[in-house]
Amino acid sequence: MGIRFPPPGGDKVTTQNPPATLFIDGAWVPASDGKTRTISCPADGSFVAEVSEGTREDAERAIAAARRAFDGGAWASVPAPQRGDFLLRVAAELRARKDEFARAETMDTGKRLVESEIDMDDIADCFEYFGKLAGQNAGRIVDADNPGVVSRISYEPVGVCALISPWNYPLLQAAWKIAPAIGAGCSFVLKPSELTPSTAILMMDVLERLGLPQGVANLVLGPGAVVGAPLSESPDVDMVSFTGGLETGRIIAASAAGTVKKVALELGGKNPNIIFADADFDAALDNALNGAFVHSGQVCSAGARLLVEEPIAERFVDELVRRAGQIRLGGPFDPESETGPLISAAHRDKVTAYVRKGVEEGARVRCGGAWGEGDLEQGFYYTPTVLDRVTRGSSVLVDEAFGPVVTVETFNGEDEAVELGNDTHYGLAGAVWSQDAGKGQRVAARLRHGTIWINDFHPYLPQAEWGGYGQSGVGRELGPTGFSEYQEAKHIYHNI
Ligand code: NAD
Repeated sequence: MGIRFPPPGGDKVTTQNPPATLFIDGAWVPASDGKTRTISCPADGSFVAEVSEGTREDAERAIAAARRAFDGGAWASVPAPQRGDFLLRVAAELRARKDEFARAETMDTGKRLVESEIDMDDIADCFEYFGKLAGQNAGRIVDADNPGVVSRISYEPVGVCALISPWNYPLLQAAWKIAPAIGAGCSFVLKPSELTPSTAILMMDVLERLGLPQGVANLVLGPGAVVGAPLSESPDVDMVSFTGGLETGRIIAASAAGTVKKVALELGGKNPNIIFADADFDAALDNALNGAFVHSGQVCSAGARLLVEEPIAERFVDELVRRAGQIRLGGPFDPESETGPLISAAHRDKVTAYVRKGVEEGARVRCGGAWGEGDLEQGFYYTPTVLDRVTRGSSVLVDEAFGPVVTVETFNGEDEAVELGNDTHYGLAGAVWSQDAGKGQRVAARLRHGTIWINDFHPYLPQAEWGGYGQSGVGRELGPTGFSEYQEAKHIYHNI
């Protein structure tokens, strides 16, 4: 692949010139026009790697390779248990190379190393889960109500998939697509965020070394409008699975409609974290902080809307503000740091403008709302921010900040909690905190979000579906439904 990410314990990165980091039809190739992009770490601007910046033509070649591989049956015809075994071998390889992958992820994203290490464990778990599921991928016999007929359903790979992923959890979000696509027998073109390509490159290296047939896995790098757009437009792509922002999701859905391809969308969230007065105060507070500020709030399921019941609201918010002000921002390799930078200068500008607009619309900044100072000025740091007195309907309550910004509202009783919790066009995730189990279950049942945590925040399981109601998306990832997204169900009716 002509590139090495970042060597353990060192900062020397070796690259081929020009770098050949596109993986098309089983070969590592440079961009067709030789163009490259420099990747630097958002924590301090340090050089990470020089990678190929693909062209539209590169994306088209990748699609054609995936099409040939699929139509040739080199992978789709491999028995499902063997495809499952392949995923288990990928999981083992990822565990063996965990440090290398985690460091690369951290360099690209500025995310704390300890968080990247957790991501890598989760990614290996994901491959293991789909490995086991793929192996059990039997069809089923249905009763045709006629003794002269055998009627069966077979589950077949959907075909060529375009897998488009974001920068916040670069390899994790890609793995949620790659593993079921391979397990189901599809071929694919992966298009990671142009900001965070490193672990996608490493992943292709794993797939190549483990012997996935030529053309089944392809990687194109570059901006969405250049190498992403052809993926949703092409008649040779059967499905687009996209994770990213709402606006991009709309563009992709509209473009995919031209060829009526299957579309799965994992979009943003404006997730309520509902704290009842009878909650375990300390646990709810710890999780409110973690839910809002981990990875600097660049999490689709971040608890960005804190809803606190009136009797404890003042004490809870005062304590939240005090603790948020103490969160230690720092470099991703510093074991003392508690959260890291935003992904880019442009994204920090977006978060800054968002908070400013919220204040113009009436919100009060209780803490944060500033850029990192001193050593932190080398990176794109933004201080953990708590806003209260937010006007209903204000943009800070409606739009996704995707930064370390939490708004506070108060409520009384279950009905108002549900009303506020559902007051969003998104519907990705939410949490309910109460020591009354019945109340937790009742409120969870009425919330229109794809995942509800009761007395916790953020955990997810590879065996449990993940996805959104409303404008948080279409379809599901993970779980059996996340696998069947990559399949077509075929009915074979045999009149014997
Ligand atoms: P983004 O929409 O800007 O980009 C996502 C990907 O789409 C990138 O690879 C980008 O290059 C590509 N892209 C952009 N324009 C395209 C086009 N016209 N055609 C095809 N591809 C195109 O999102 P982002 O800023 O990278 O990620 C942040 C967003 O992702 C947030 O909104 C977050 O909530 C969302 N997200 C959702 C989940 C989830 O599970 N629901 C998980 C992680 C992130």
